[in-house]
Amino acid sequence: MELNWIEKIKFFAKFMQLMIDLHLHSNYSDGLDTPFQLIDKSIELEIKAIALTDHDTIDGVREFLSYGEDKENIIVIPAIEISIMHEPFREIKDVHIIGLNINRDSSELINTLKQQLTGRLNQKKQICRRLREEFGYNITFDEVESIAESNVVGRPHIVKIMKKNNPDKVESKTNDELFKIISLGGEAYVDREFELNLEESIELIEAAGGIPILAHPGIYKVSNRTKFVELCVNAGIKGVEVEYIYAKNRPFFNTDNAQWAQDFLPQFYRKIAEKFNLLKSGGSDYHGKGSNKIIKIGEANVPNEYLKYII
Ligand SMILES: [Zn+2]
Repeated sequence: MELNWIEKIKFFAKFMQLMIDLHLHSNYSDGLDTPFQLIDKSIELEIKAIALTDHDTIDGVREFLSYGEDKENIIVIPAIEISIMHEPFREIKDVHIIGLNINRDSSELINTLKQQLTGRLNQKKQICRRLREEFGYNITFDEVESIAESNVVGRPHIVKIMKKNNPDKVESKTNDELFKIISLGGEAYVDREFELNLEESIELIEAAGGIPILAHPGIYKVSNRTKFVELCVNAGIKGVEVEYIYAKNRPFFNTDNAQWAQDFLPQFYRKIAEKFNLLKSGGSDYHGKGSNKIIKIGEANVPNEYLKYII
């Protein structure tokens, strides 16, 4: 059916308003939804394009693409969110790099992620062993692994078992204190045997044909925000996540700074992106309803114009 001009304008206006979301997690990392559910929910919300950015894994990408690729009303983008090595000297701590539009068949990417996963699991095994042998906790890696629904065992699973099996020992400790024991600088922390630094993760993403993007820059504790982005630019970063729901994410969630963060940070990083000629990206960092993050797909209001340089 031919659209008349009013309908055409309406259609165009609606298209212009449609949002995208380039930061979503599935149950292949620490999200709750399957890749199918992410796609179905996004279509329902009329999101125009979504990227699956699971932590350090592309295992969900096949499912994501096979289900989403022939859907007419959504564009699905294969991606990853890589955790990079801590480097206190460069103020790199808990920094994540997103690789947008990666080739899931890149053997370099597949092999490196395999090594990274092995390193991660060995680290968690060692931490459980130290907790048991040096600190007297009743905990085994097998039990921790059994409660991790996906194949990526993380600190939350260890803390869960610390609490479940050792009520007397953890009684006087807060959740944050328990996390601290097993995190960088904590008594039972163990270094990972294989990790990618900033430059290596950028190279890996580019080797897989992807675009390296600095994820949620506003959450990092650095002494100078501009200089930190400059460091990442010199390392080869091509884009920065400017639209992000800081108010609902750590370290701002439930703090007095939440509103400030939301008003200030996206605006600040939009300017930074222009200053360094970086691509702009953004997303909700959705992990699924029921996870402790009360965020909706598309909530970061990422304009679809960002897409034209990304795909
Ligand atoms: Zn994320």
